[in-house]
Amino acid sequence: METYCDRCGEPAADGDHAACRAAREMEPPRYCPRCRRRMIVQVTPLGWTARCSQHGALSQHGALSQHGALDGGPAS
Ligand SMILES: [Zn+2]
Ligand SMILES: [Zn+2]
Repeated sequence: METYCDRCGEPAADGDHAACRAAREMEPPRYCPRCRRRMIVQVTPLGWTARCSQHGALSQHGALSQHGALDGGPAS
C-alpha cells in the first residue's frame, strides 16, 4: 500500500489525489510512495525510470527492469 502520493508527496490518504493520478498517466513519479524521498528520474525514449535510494527503481510498467525487450533498431 502506498503511503505517500508519488506525484505531490502528500500522504496518500490525505486529500484527493485524483488529479495526481491523472497526471501520473503521463508523467513519471516524483516522490517515493513509501518514504517520500525525491526520486531520481530518468526519462528515456521508451518511457522513464524512477529510483529511490532506499527502495530501488520503479519503471513505467511497475517492474524493476525491463532490459532487452526494446533494444534499439533502426529509427525509421
Ligand atoms: Zn497527490
Ligand atoms: Zn523510498
